[in-house]
Amino acid sequence: MAEQSKGDLVVGVDFGGTKILAGVFDNAMECLGNAKISTKAPRGSDAVIERIARCVQDAVDEADLNLKQVRGIGLGAPGAVDGKSGTVIFAPNLDWRDVPLKKELEKHLGASVFVENDCNVAMLGVYVVELKSKPKDVVGIFIGTGIGGGLVINGELYRGFNHTAGEIGHMVVDVDGPKCGCGNKGCFEALASRTAIFQQIKTAVKDGQKTILTDMLGDDLEDLRSGDLRKAIRRGDKFVDHVVEEAAEYTGIAVANLINILNPEAVVLGGGVIEALADEMLGIITEVARDHILAGTSKDVEIIASKLGDNAGITGSAVLAKQETK
Ligand SMILES: [Zn+2]
Repeated sequence: MAEQSKGDLVVGVDFGGTKILAGVFDNAMECLGNAKISTKAPRGSDAVIERIARCVQDAVDEADLNLKQVRGIGLGAPGAVDGKSGTVIFAPNLDWRDVPLKKELEKHLGASVFVENDCNVAMLGVYVVELKSKPKDVVGIFIGTGIGGGLVINGELYRGFNHTAGEIGHMVVDVDGPKCGCGNKGCFEALASRTAIFQQIKTAVKDGQKTILTDMLGDDLEDLRSGDLRKAIRRGDKFVDHVVEEAAEYTGIAVANLINILNPEAVVLGGGVIEALADEMLGIITEVARDHILAGTSKDVEIIASKLGDNAGITGSAVLAKQETK
C-alpha cells in the first residue's frame, strides 16, 4: 500500500437500528479498511455513540492507520438530521430525539464529524462514486428493512423545505393496501420492503403455504434473509417467485410515479433487497415502469441497479466528509 500522507483519509459511517458500518477511504475513494458492529440501540444514545466511535477506530486500525491521519468523518443517520449542527432531530428506529451526534462524536474522536440522513448519503455515494456525478437529475431508491430515497436535482442533493425530502417509501401505491408503520395504508414500503416481503411469506406459511424456504430454514423462518429468496426462486419455488414479482411490480409503479414527476436521467435502485435480487426484480421493475410512464417522458431514462450494495452508505458518508473538508 502507498504511504498515506497526513490528512488524506476520510472515514464513512453508516448506522441503523441493528448495525454500524465504518470504512476508511483514500483520496481516490478506495476503501482501505472497514469494520462492522451491532448498534445495541436499546442501551441508549450515549452507548450507541461510544460504539460508533469504537467502530471508526476499528476500521482505521484494520487499515493499519491511525486517527491522526483522518481529516474528517461522515455519518449517515437513520432519520431527520440538522446537517449544520449535526443533530439527529428524530430517528424512530433508534428512539432518538435531538441527539447532538456531531458534538458528542467529535469529543470521542478528536476529528471533524459531518452528519446527514442515511438515504441522502447513500444517494451521494451512488452519485459521486458510481455515476461519477455525470447525470444532472437522479432518483435513488434503497430497498431494505424499509424503503428510503435520495434525490439529486441539478447536480445537488435535494433536501426540501424541512430537510425531509425523499420519503419515497411512504408514497401510497395501493390505497387499499396493508397498513404501514407510518399509519397510512398501502405505502410503497408496506408492500415492497424486506419487512413487507418477509411478513407476507411468514403469514402464508402459517396458513399452510408450501415453500422450499421451510426446508432450508425450518418452519418459523427465523433466520430468513433476502439471499434465501434468491436461492428458493432459483430452485423453482413458484410461491416465493410470485411474492418477489409482486414487490417488483409495486416498485415499478413507484419508479413510474417518480419518473413522471421528476423526469430524471437515471433511476438507481439499491439496498439489500436489490443487492440480493437484482436479476429477479430489475426486468419486471423496468417493464412495469415503462408501462406506466407518460409517453415521451421515459425516452433514454436509465433504470439501473447500484453495484455498491451495502457499501453505498459508508461510501457516501466518506464523500460527504471529503466534500465538507475540502
Ligand atoms: Zn408509510
